[in-house]
Amino acid sequence: MAIKQPTIQHTAVQNGHPYFSTELLAWYRAQKRTLPWRKNHDPYRIWVSEIMLQQTRVDTVIPYYLTFMEKFPTVQALAEAPEEEVLKCWEGLGYYSRARNLQAGAKMVMELYDGIIPNDKEAVSGLKGVGPYTSGAIMSIAFNRPEPAVDGNVMRVLSRFFCLEEDIAKPATRAGIEKLAAALIPEGAAGDFNQALMELGALICTPKSPGCLTCPVMEECEGRLAGRELELPIKTKAKPPRQEYRAAALIWGNGENAGKLLVRQREGKGLLAGMWELPHLLLPPHAADWFAEEASKEQPELAEMLTVMVEQDTGQLIRPKGWLKDADHIFSHILWKMRVIECDLGEESTGIADEKNGAESKPEEAASKAAEALMAAAEEREDYVNHSAEEASKSLIPGGMVYRWIDREDMELLPFPNLFLRIIGETWERRGRGEAL
Ligand code: SF4
Repeated sequence: MAIKQPTIQHTAVQNGHPYFSTELLAWYRAQKRTLPWRKNHDPYRIWVSEIMLQQTRVDTVIPYYLTFMEKFPTVQALAEAPEEEVLKCWEGLGYYSRARNLQAGAKMVMELYDGIIPNDKEAVSGLKGVGPYTSGAIMSIAFNRPEPAVDGNVMRVLSRFFCLEEDIAKPATRAGIEKLAAALIPEGAAGDFNQALMELGALICTPKSPGCLTCPVMEECEGRLAGRELELPIKTKAKPPRQEYRAAALIWGNGENAGKLLVRQREGKGLLAGMWELPHLLLPPHAADWFAEEASKEQPELAEMLTVMVEQDTGQLIRPKGWLKDADHIFSHILWKMRVIECDLGEESTGIADEKNGAESKPEEAASKAAEALMAAAEEREDYVNHSAEEASKSLIPGGMVYRWIDREDMELLPFPNLFLRIIGETWERRGRGEAL
């Protein structure tokens, strides 16, 4: 039987590395940036900042952080806020489940710990949305406990400094680097040292162009000395995101809703839960052809699908007027390719539901015909994943989504994901110049 090799074989795992730890700490204490979450050691402030900083640059986070802390200055304020307000504060930052989990975590702190974030690693790790990195950051920065906080930046710095060749995409490598990072923490300086590692990765030991000449630990950096700083860390590529072709209807109202747009709120779970958006649907696989460069932007089949979906969901008869734009949005595992069709209203069919769909009877026949067409198209391509086909069908079935007409001011209150924020924002601008329908 093959013997499993332990990962991260380096003497520093046992003995630490005094040069690295001392130089890095001294550099950080002399050079650290003034950031709003570094004002004090309040664990709540640190928690919020660490969640916001995941996958997001410091410069982007700062204004969001300041607004968020002003609106929700305490765990209690966050726990008691309406979810829509929390999402609105997060609008534009992306990865909205972070905001929902943060609020769920705040509720847990209220219920389980009387509103006080405990100085207890196990308890903090048990909070919703708090993974090993975030718990390490909170425990070390807020409570100065010697816990490692290892994210991609830290894995890159340590892989380079110690010339580690393990694949950082593997969980075993992360576990090994966590041990190494823990061994490096100088006595009594966990918070500053962990922030120093993050700061080095963010400012100097950057992914594409490490600034070795200004690096405080360059003299003993094994990766640099071996001329391998650009090759490290080793990381196997993640699978490319799955492409989904979608069509959205940008619908102008008439009568009392003249000048308003129809939007809907997503359900309370799953991707972008609770956010507002333009009505849209997942297209069948052959729609990829409609997005080809040489293809016409006007596709009658696509317009028909949108018409059926909107009528099915709201009772409104729309008239697609023409292609408005194509826009992409990338999530970590899915790429949405969205075609936006501008529409206005035809006559109203039975029982319009202004605020909520599904309240009145629907034209079942048209809906089921369109659903069948989508399902049949979905089966055309063998590699089309099953759940996509199901979703294509479901998107024509009343899903309990809330629809409403909005004007420009309403955009200030409702949270939209970036993609729709961009599309709708541009639309209001265009209308302001007298170019819209
Ligand atoms: S010397 Fe270069 S590769 Fe090594 S830690 Fe510093 S910036 Fe990174």
